[in-house]
Amino acid sequence: MKAEDAFASLSGFQHALAGHVEWLQHWYQAVLHRSVGGTIPDPAAGACAFGAWLVSAADGPLSNFPGFASLGAEHEAVHAKAAQVSERARAGQTITTSDYETLMDSVLSFGSAAQALEREVWKALATVDPLTGLANRQSMRSQLTGERDRSIRQGQSLSLALADIDHFKKINDSYGHAKGDTVLRAVAGVLRNTVRPYDVVYRYGGEEFLICLPGTNAETGAHALERIRHAIAALQLPDDKGGFIPVTATFGLAEINADVSVDDGIEHADKALYDGKRSGRNRVVRYEEEITI
Ligand code: GH3
Ligand code: MG
Ligand code: MG
Repeated sequence: MKAEDAFASLSGFQHALAGHVEWLQHWYQAVLHRSVGGTIPDPAAGACAFGAWLVSAADGPLSNFPGFASLGAEHEAVHAKAAQVSERARAGQTITTSDYETLMDSVLSFGSAAQALEREVWKALATVDPLTGLANRQSMRSQLTGERDRSIRQGQSLSLALADIDHFKKINDSYGHAKGDTVLRAVAGVLRNTVRPYDVVYRYGGEEFLICLPGTNAETGAHALERIRHAIAALQLPDDKGGFIPVTATFGLAEINADVSVDDGIEHADKALYDGKRSGRNRVVRYEEEITI
């Protein structure tokens, strides 16, 4: 989920909720108080602003949350109840307290479902870095620990890498902070699109990223990272003067296994990264290479 898209969807959602309240108020006045010249608004679910929003949001980012389907069902229930009561009103029958209460119950359930969806979205947003759309550090450690446990159980290897953009301070200083942000987004995009589907990329710090590579050892992991390194160096980001901003990154790679904890692995990757910086940048360095006897 892209954080910007989710924020935009949330504001559309809140607007639509207000539309639903408006529809309900209008409907109440017409049906229960008979105060709007006797014309009863269409009780169909699609007739209110919220119904229209549900249709348009069906292929948007919020539709992936479990609460989206429940919310749709609760919305249908409100309108189904409203349709029943509308029918009674049209037939000139009395609207009873019990009619009112069952309608109120469905309105309250709808409100709870709306709150539940909003909570789900906020919870997901808390784990996303807004600038790059990558996962942030919020749940990184627990996810990496889970990945380590799974790899040990399945007898698979696991490696992780720290990637750090080279001379990023100079990029900010030479082209401005906004361009720096563009570079960060572009590098994050390369990382996201170049790793395999089951690899996970986190924004680890300012211009540092952590890449978790399940099923790879130091050798196969280094291959994957070389591919990413080339893709970053091949980026062509215009510098506003007809040229391109040179962007490269250095990678430190370490294996994690039953003898190496997640924290140790990160520390090893960091040492390898430091080595890569010292020896000239724009390279992939494995932790193993550092071992001296
Ligand atoms: P090295 O090659 O050794 O990694 O050098 P470097 O300049 O990349 O490293 P350094 O750690 O000195 O600089 C990192 C810079 O990243 C400093 C900081 O201002 C910048 N930075 C951190 N977060 C952001 C951000 O979100 N946006 C932008 N534009 N800059 C950021
Ligand atoms: Mg750094
Ligand atoms: Mg750097």
